[in-house]
This record gives sequence, structure tokens and C-alpha cells, in this order.
Amino acid sequence: MSSDYLKEITSYLREYDGDSMNIMEVCGSHTAAIAKSGIKSIISDKINLVSGPGCPVCVTPSAYVDKLISLALEEGNCIATFGDLMRVPGSEESLNIAKGRGADVEMVYSPMDVVELAKKNPDKNYIFAAVGFETTTPVYALLLDTIVSEKIKNIKLLTAVKTMPAVIEHLLAEGAPIDGFLAPGHVCVVTGSKIFTPLAEKYDIPFAVSGFSGEEILEALYGLVKIKKGGRVMNFYPKVVTEEGNTSAKSLIDKYFTPSAACWRGMGIIKGSGLKIRDEYSYLDAGSEGLNEDIKKNKACLCDQVLMGKKTPKDCPLFGKVCTPLTPQGACMVSEEGCCHTWIANYR
Ligand code: SF4
Repeated sequence: MSSDYLKEITSYLREYDGDSMNIMEVCGSHTAAIAKSGIKSIISDKINLVSGPGCPVCVTPSAYVDKLISLALEEGNCIATFGDLMRVPGSEESLNIAKGRGADVEMVYSPMDVVELAKKNPDKNYIFAAVGFETTTPVYALLLDTIVSEKIKNIKLLTAVKTMPAVIEHLLAEGAPIDGFLAPGHVCVVTGSKIFTPLAEKYDIPFAVSGFSGEEILEALYGLVKIKKGGRVMNFYPKVVTEEGNTSAKSLIDKYFTPSAACWRGMGIIKGSGLKIRDEYSYLDAGSEGLNEDIKKNKACLCDQVLMGKKTPKDCPLFGKVCTPLTPQGACMVSEEGCCHTWIANYR
């Protein structure tokens, strides 16, 4: 981006004096990038950036965490998971706390790490905690493909995989006051930008696919604020996002997963908003069906409202007092991509 163009878009966004606009960044990586780059401090007060339900661990329901804990406490089982998920509160405790009382939990950096663990320890049953969005699903499909092709007997997955369009539709159908969406670039690398076209057209609302640098986000915001209305998808991340997406990743996902209802923390069950392992591979599923309960550890937690963009973390009475990154009361405070975690680090 040329410095002249950057100056032009920055001054447009700073001096914007039209109707107030609520722009939702759906993705937790965007929430964190917006905070780190200080974008809120250099744009007009009339452009309100609202965080949405795009942080993978934040939307994982407590019943899923409870199930992981009960599996990890069974003799011979070991849960393999990303570090963030270990701190997410279940209905009573987190995996981290359960680990302290004997649950077998191993932190990994990639889903494929579990293959090595399983080969080294053939007497253990490994269960990989597969949470996340379209971005990580291709790696879960690759893991399943490896398990099948190498006939590995001691790995299963517990899945809570989510997809973006249905949850965005849920917000729009609930009347969320959103004037435009900053669409997640890494999701669109896999799905293609056209995944948002039906929603843009149905609700006559613009989507701007964006990368994750401050400049890329500013450019996408500029696109949204300038056009204000109109059901279209604009791709401001063309170096990696195409309209069609990654067709080989999509077909690998399709081989192992099929659309399903999914439970979102604080939002309940949303039809068609998740992916489950196909019936023919159900022997590789560690019991993901029916994990729909979502019990708040702390009743005062406003995570559900925060995830829907209806409240900000500062509206929560626990924010920064009882609830901190060291003592998370809700899932939004756990991950660096969680809205409350981002706010405590940047907007307190
Ligand atoms: Fe929940 Fe903590 Fe955020 Fe409040 S500050 S909404 S308790 S995560």
C-alpha cells in the first residue's frame, strides 16, 4: 500500500462525520490486531467497532470441557489439546485444574503432534480436542486422513468445530444492530470469499474480507464505511483469498465432515453452524454428539452478550476485578483472541 493511499484512508476514517456505524469484526484475531495496532484511537467516534463470536475457545460450551475432563480422568486416556483450551472453564473446573488432580492432559502445538505421541505410546488412547472454525478444520481432516491411511488405532477426536455463516445469520436474524462485517481473511482462504455472498445479499449488508495487519484492517474499514450500505462482499485480502477458496482443503473437509447443529457458549444451539465427523468415520469420534449444555461458572459473567456484540467487556461487573487473565470467570478472558482478554490488555 502506498503511503499516499494509507494517508487518504486514515484521514477519511478519522474525519468521518456521517451516520454512526457499528462494524463487527467477527474474528478473534481481528479483535486482537485492532487492539494492538491502536486502530480505535485513530478513527472517528462514529465508527464503532464491535467484537463478534469468532474466538474458537470463547464459543466452546462448558459441556464440551466437562466431557474432555471426564475422558481425561478415565484410565488409559490422554487428552491432547492446544494450551488455550486447557484454561477454559467447564461447569465446575478447567482441564488445567483437572490435570492437577490426575487427569491426563498433554498440550500440543499442532493436531498432527498427536500422531507422534500415539506412535510413541501405543498403550495410551489419545483424544484430540478439535475446536475452532473453518481455518483449522482442514488440519483436523488431515489428521483423520492420517489416522485412516496409517490405520492408527489409538487416536480419536472430540469435536466442537464451528462454521461462520450460520452464526452471523443468527446475529442478523436476532436483530443485532450491525452495519457491516469485517470478514475473517484466514477463514476465507479456505472457504473462499463467496461464502458470505448469500448473507450479504439476503440482509443487504456489506462484508469486507480483511487481512490482519493494521493497514489491511484500515483498508477494509475504509471500504465498509465508504459504501455504507449494499449487500456485497469486498475482498481486501486478494493476495491469499480467492472467490472459490482452497478447493483441495474443502474436499478433504467434505470427505470427513458433514454440517451439523452446534452449541455456542452463551448462545445455545444454532442449526447448521458446525461440522461433525461423517457417520462412516464415527468410530474415530470420542463422543462429540449432544454436548449442548452450557452452564455458567459465574452467573454474573456476560460472555454471551459480549460474544453477540450486545455488551462490551467493561459492562461486565466482574471485568478486571474477579475476572482477569489469571482468574478467568468466562471463556472470553482466556484466550489472547478473547474479547475480554483483549480489552483488559488494551482498553482498561
Ligand atoms: Fe465473562 Fe470475565 Fe468477560 Fe465478564 S469479564 S464477560 S466474567 S469473561
